[in-house]
Amino acid sequence: MSTDNELDELYRELILDHYRNPRNSDYIHEAQHKAEGFNPFCGDQVNLQIMADKSGTIEAIGTQGKGCSISQASASMLTETIKGKSLTRAKSSSDAFRRLLRGEHLEESELDDLGILEAFQGVRKFPVRIKCALLPWTTMEEALER
Ligand code: ZN
Repeated sequence: MSTDNELDELYRELILDHYRNPRNSDYIHEAQHKAEGFNPFCGDQVNLQIMADKSGTIEAIGTQGKGCSISQASASMLTETIKGKSLTRAKSSSDAFRRLLRGEHLEESELDDLGILEAFQGVRKFPVRIKCALLPWTTMEEALER
């Protein structure tokens, strides 16, 4: 069993890794769902594209942006988490992530679903950062409404 400090350190490294080497950063021109998000509190910017097939499975996802490590790592991890899932499932992951950041109770299955996004649970100690972590997710919700 690792101590809280070791876990924090592990999470910090995971976040920095995604910040420095963002996954799925190619722009998806053919995507049906696109949105751009901006967090004025921190200056973070996130562009997001989602391409789904006829059955509603996410085939490709792209994200580009600039800003703090929390916002950009969250965008990168979002893409890894929802790629290959259904649009409905992506929306429920978004809901679960929001509750994780609020420190609310999550079912075991929801935690499994979030996977590495659990790394963001430390962010709840810094309320100002919650907006950074959520930006890619609110941007995705906006994209899916179009
Ligand atoms: Zn930020």
